[in-house]
Amino acid sequence: MKGDLVIVGLGPGPEGWVTPAATVAVAAADVILGYTPYVNRIAPRPGQVLEASDNREELVRAQRALTLAAGGKRVAVVSGGDPGVFAMAAAVYEAVESNPASADGVDIRVEPGVTAMLAAAARIGAPLGHDFCAISLSDNLKPWATIEKRLRLAAEADFVIALYNPASKARPQQIKQAFHILSAVLPAETIVVFARAVGRPDEEIDIATLAEAADMQCDMRTLVIIGSRATRQVKSADGRAWIYTPRSERR
Ligand code: SAH
Repeated sequence: MKGDLVIVGLGPGPEGWVTPAATVAVAAADVILGYTPYVNRIAPRPGQVLEASDNREELVRAQRALTLAAGGKRVAVVSGGDPGVFAMAAAVYEAVESNPASADGVDIRVEPGVTAMLAAAARIGAPLGHDFCAISLSDNLKPWATIEKRLRLAAEADFVIALYNPASKARPQQIKQAFHILSAVLPAETIVVFARAVGRPDEEIDIATLAEAADMQCDMRTLVIIGSRATRQVKSADGRAWIYTPRSERR
């Protein structure tokens, strides 16, 4: 009997943002694999094995998960947010593509989660109310020239842009380059949201204009949302403010 493999999204952090289905999938697993900070969020039940590894080992982890499942184990691979968004689900299918026999008879499925961009958007209002796109700023897995092109064309097409992986210790400057590229296309007053550690005790949400954005703090726990030309602030009469993008565009 072969086992099964479920790639589970744990959401951005708080327990309340983990779906009941994700909780069931994790509880059912014999072995749970993932990047160390995500595996650390699991309180194992007796008999459950946790295998934490580095975030540069995604393909090796995916292959190991397939091997364990083919050997009869019930395996869960955990990701933060949604496992299909810049995360482990695609790594598992990449491993299947490179070795189709490794998936023979293994039941593989994906259990979705709340991705960072949705959690960040919910904190400030409704910035993703109209057409948007998501771009990872990491050039570990694609050329920087591709990222520059996508930024420029997304701005020209007037998408709201969610930027994942905006900066890391190894890549502190690329986010500034990104704002430089966007500034050539978008107005200086375009709204930019910095949502750091959403749902965590040290959560921090900052709102700036594109002209100010390059001076803002940004790290690997930050999700950046760049508004479209229609994204704006709305205020209640008592002075509270939100950011939203209207659902309709003028013809
Ligand atoms: N699968 C994850 C994304 C992995 S890429 C998801 O669906 O959310 C990692 C990037 O996600 C980080 O660099 C950051 O940009 C974003 N991110 C993940 N969790 C976050 C959180 N709690 N707050 C803000 N950004 C977060």
